[in-house]
Formats: sequence, structure tokens, C-alpha cells
Amino acid sequence: MNYQNTLEFANELDEQDPLKDFRSQFLVPKHNGKDAIYLCGNSLGLQPLSAQKYVNDQFANWKELAIEGFFAGDDPWLEYHKKLIHTLSGLLGAKEEEVTVMNSLTVNLHLLMVSFYKPINKRFKILIEGGAFPSDQYAVASQARFHGYAPGDAIIEVFPREGEFTLRTDDIIQKINEHGNELALVLFGGVNYFTGQLFEMEAITAAAHKVGAYAGFDLAHAAGNVPLRLSEWNVDFAAWCSYKYMNSGPGGISGVFVNEKHFQNKDLNRFEGWWGNRQDSRFLMKSEFEAERGAVGWQLSTAPVMPMALHKAALDIFEQAGGIVPLRAKSELLTGYLEFLINEVNKDAGAELFKIITPQNKAERGCQLSIVCKKNAKAIFNYLTKNSVIGDWREPNVIRLSPVPLYNSFKQVFEAGRILAAALKEI
Ligand SMILES: *Cc1c(COP(=O)(O)O)cnc(C)c1O
Repeated sequence: MNYQNTLEFANELDEQDPLKDFRSQFLVPKHNGKDAIYLCGNSLGLQPLSAQKYVNDQFANWKELAIEGFFAGDDPWLEYHKKLIHTLSGLLGAKEEEVTVMNSLTVNLHLLMVSFYKPINKRFKILIEGGAFPSDQYAVASQARFHGYAPGDAIIEVFPREGEFTLRTDDIIQKINEHGNELALVLFGGVNYFTGQLFEMEAITAAAHKVGAYAGFDLAHAAGNVPLRLSEWNVDFAAWCSYKYMNSGPGGISGVFVNEKHFQNKDLNRFEGWWGNRQDSRFLMKSEFEAERGAVGWQLSTAPVMPMALHKAALDIFEQAGGIVPLRAKSELLTGYLEFLINEVNKDAGAELFKIITPQNKAERGCQLSIVCKKNAKAIFNYLTKNSVIGDWREPNVIRLSPVPLYNSFKQVFEAGRILAAALKEI
């Protein structure tokens, strides 16, 4: 695409955008009396207009049916999670049985590590990306301690090379090979929260398996953002949150993937609860646990209907949009446009004042661009916010901007570029 730095060009791209009408299905916060340019879907996706109705329907069921709501009405609560799975498994590239929703993300990482982090003798190490999201670091460190290991001995981090910001797949694989028979688990992000780098999950999984380790992924920044093929890539397990690119509300319900090949795997530990018991014998209240086949067998507690209703509101929009393929096509164009405009600002300034540390290659990133501001970083971020461009700030000098194909337009991205240029002039 030959991008141009003009409003006409941005408007033209909006005209041609087959997804342009989806924006009206979201509630956009107001700023200075008009719609904000919300580029923060990497932290919290916008509220679908339909979200209240979906929840209100369940308030009505609760009011009218009370306990009967589990079995009666249009959406019996006992089965409600199943209504999410078709769309969700499409977004994750998984079989329907391999996916369920439950709990929240960090909780699910712990539960999945109960199953997939099983240190034996020399094989007790977990390999993670250097600078992983803090919650993931705390989770793996506390899992190591729980099994009696010092995190310093058990956790291996892979960092970018000197002078680089992102990881090379070869370096990840080399690190996996280096620790070979000491590795119990490789737990990586799908997309790194800080740099926006999209990792080669298939290659990482293959390398982990080759040395006899399990491979799991935290897809917080990948789910609803980039195409995923978890089954085909032979990933062992994954978890994600629904409140970032999946627009399902702050602290919304998390999702998990468990590869079909592990449904009957007797080597795996599992923390059990009645909601993971077979549905047909759950209410016989027997003392012996019989796991439901599939990822649902990892559920513990009564599924929370309100967060699932919010999730359904958001997933139905993904379904209407045709799933991840058309969204990804727009996303590549949209983020490419933001990248072009930032580089234009640098060109005009005669210096690379804004260094994009997210990979240039579209195949190695999702919506997000992470921008190192070489000068006056915080003042520039504040200027953006004051002028209604909502991104987010990461210490010491990084601004993350994520144009989201469901609700951002090319015109908004153009405006964001213009405001970034103005920031340089005014600060
Ligand atoms: C957002 C995010 C989390 C947050 O976890 P919660 O349990 O939902 O608070 C964890 N890990 C990663 C990689 C994230 O991006």
C-alpha cells in the first residue's frame, strides 16, 4: 500500500473499508465534547452497545426464573458457556471441545500449570520470554516455589540481543535446546505486551516438544487480535483474557485451550471442582469426580452468567464481522498506516524522535505499535491525552498505540498522526 499523509487519503480508505459500520456498535468515551481517538484496546476494549441488553436479558431470567434459570428459558445457564464456544474456537483456531471459559487469566495460568508444570528430577525448569507481563512472572515464580525450587534456579528467561528490542525465534529455540532435558515447560506470550511482537508459536511449540517439554501460551494480547491455529500448531495449552481485544468488560471472563490429546492424559494433575464433572452426572452429587470430556473438564465453579453474557455480546460482533480473517486484513492496513504516519513525523523532524520497537514485518505483530520517545516522552504522552488520543504509557519512555479494526477508522489514525506532529512543535 502506498500510503499518503492526507485527510482525503484517510477518508478514502474509510470509504473502502468493508468493516466501517462496526464502529457504531461500540460506545466511545467522549473527550473535550467529541469522541476520543481510542487507541487503547490492548488494555481495555470498548463496550459493545449491545452489552447492557445481553446482561439485562439475564437479569430478567434471574428475576423471572430464579433457580429455574439454570435449566429453563432461552439461554439455560447450565449451557450458556456453550454459546460462546463456536466463535471463540474460530478465533483461537481450536476444536470446540478444546476451548472453554472460566475464571480470570492469572488464575487459569496457575490451574493450567497445575496440569502442565510437573517437575520431575532434573526436568524442573520453565522457560519464559524476558520481560514477560508481571503477573506471568509472579505466576511462574510462585509455581516454582510451590514445588520447592528457587525461582532463580527454575525460571529461564530469553532476552533480546544487545541493542535489539525484540526476540529472534532462532535465539528462543537455541535457548530451548540449550536447556533441553532440564525443561519441563515453555510458557510464552503470543504477543508480547510491551513490544507488541507476535511470536512464532508453531516453531516454539515444536522446539519445546522436541526436547520433551510442554508448550503453553498466554494469549492476552493475541486473542481477538491476530489469527491463531492452536490445534494445528500442536500447542498443549493456552489462556487469555477477554477484556483486551475481545471487548468483554473489565476483568471479564478468561478463556482456556487444552489440546485434545490431553483430555485422557493420566499424567496430568488437575485441580477439580463440580463444574468440571460430567454434566450428566453433576447433580447426582457423587463423591467421585468424573471429568467432563474436553477443556470444560478443567472448570471448577458454577459458571458466572453475567460475565459470560458480556462476552457473548462481544463475540457476536466478531461473528458478524466474519471472524478474524477480515479483521486482520483491516488491522494490517490500519497499523501500517499509523506506522507510516509516525515515520512521516520523524522525516519532518529530520531525526528518529519516535522509534517504533514493534517489528516492521506485519507477520510479527498485531494491532499495537510500541513507540520509544527519545525526548520529552511523558510530556508528549500527556499532550496526546489532552488532545483526545488515548493510548497508554509504559515506563520509562514508551507509548503504546493500538488501532483496533472493529472500532477505529483510518481518519482517526490520521488525526493521531497529526496530533503527534503538533506535539513536537508545541513541546
Ligand atoms: C493483561 C495481561 C494479564 C492480566 O491478567 P489478569 O489475571 O486478567 O489480571 C496477564 N498476562 C498478560 C500477558 C497480560 O497481557
